[in-house]
Amino acid sequence: MAPLLSIDEARAAVLAAVTPLEAEAISVADALGRVLAEELAAAGDVPPFANSAMDGFLVPTGPAGRTLTVTGESRAGHPADAAPEPGTAIRISTGALVPPGGESVVPIEQIAFNEDGTITLNAEAKPGQHIRHPGEDVTAGTTLLPPGTLFGPAEVGAAVIAGRAHVQAARRPRLSIIATGDELVPPGRPLEPGQIHESNGMTLGALAEQAGADVLVRAHVKDTPSATRSALEHALTRSDVIIASGGVSVGPHDHVKGALDDLGVEERFWRVALRPGKPTWFGTKGDTLVFGLPGNPVSAMVTFLLFVRPALARLQGADPSRTRVRARLTEPLPRLPGRDEAVRVKLAYTDAGRTATPTGPQGSHQLTSMIAADGLALLTAGGAVAEAGTELDVELI
Ligand code: AMP
Ligand code: MG
Repeated sequence: MAPLLSIDEARAAVLAAVTPLEAEAISVADALGRVLAEELAAAGDVPPFANSAMDGFLVPTGPAGRTLTVTGESRAGHPADAAPEPGTAIRISTGALVPPGGESVVPIEQIAFNEDGTITLNAEAKPGQHIRHPGEDVTAGTTLLPPGTLFGPAEVGAAVIAGRAHVQAARRPRLSIIATGDELVPPGRPLEPGQIHESNGMTLGALAEQAGADVLVRAHVKDTPSATRSALEHALTRSDVIIASGGVSVGPHDHVKGALDDLGVEERFWRVALRPGKPTWFGTKGDTLVFGLPGNPVSAMVTFLLFVRPALARLQGADPSRTRVRARLTEPLPRLPGRDEAVRVKLAYTDAGRTATPTGPQGSHQLTSMIAADGLALLTAGGAVAEAGTELDVELI
């Protein structure tokens, strides 16, 4: 039998099978979590006009101690049309337009108000002080966001200051989840002997949504060839990505691989030298990516993070390595001879850099090991113990 793929080899095989999705116009209001599919440049200068950085008075340049007559005001949104004449000042607020020829802003804290309505400057008015210039943040035509940018709150704001109400973003991947297993019952239902609650539909759905997918189908099927096949067949008509949970091992009640084969889904790999997650299956039909993830709740999440999430990023034109960091172990960990291991860890930031500490018992059925975990420390296969202080790749959760 061919040696099993390493995590990196399996991930590379998945990424190589991805055809990026087309772009669509979306409202900036809906852009959070989406991936930009164009180069986004500023339509005009930002800020668009010279404006005051302080609340105070716009005055002619000159020394402290001058008394000036107040002749007007420039408020945010209500610009004054002329700069003050010699001997005069205009009140100005933060962000208000500085008219052409405006020389200097003196903050309100440095102003004495006289009973006759004049003001006296308690400080020198230096040329250009507290005046922000047009284009000081960005000049017209400058690229603010390159294609592939993941929209967070600041990027959404950047699109707005660039002058946009709509942007081109990759279409959200349409994803279906099919949980297999006769033992599974819906959340909240009292359990009969031998039954457990179907949790993978929830965890995988949540992970998929976080990764930008549109979760179309969440189905649960019994362990029969026909039920498995018809659920997968339905999903194949409408999905960019299909995840089957469970049923990919070698037991007599594991029907996922057989059904996928029947439906013409071409196997790209089955089984990865990974704990947890060895039975992971991956194949394609046309541009549709199909993952058979092991049913153990931790295995399902780990293999999603290592293989499905990078595919969702690449489908949307984002960088699949954005969620990779390095960290040092705080305690020694034994390595598995023939398998990479994804150890659930808490990360901390210390004087020695970023550190990783295992979350506790690491059984693939112990979903508690994922609770509050920050990442998966990727311990490569090999004989020797990884000593405390060893630096590893960590896939952020
Ligand atoms: P399987 O991969 O189908 O052999 O399942 C492996 C283990 O994961 C078994 O203990 C299953 O009961 C459990 N399991 C399978 N699917 C789910 C699911 N959707 N939610 C929770 N546990 C599951
Ligand atoms: Mg099963």
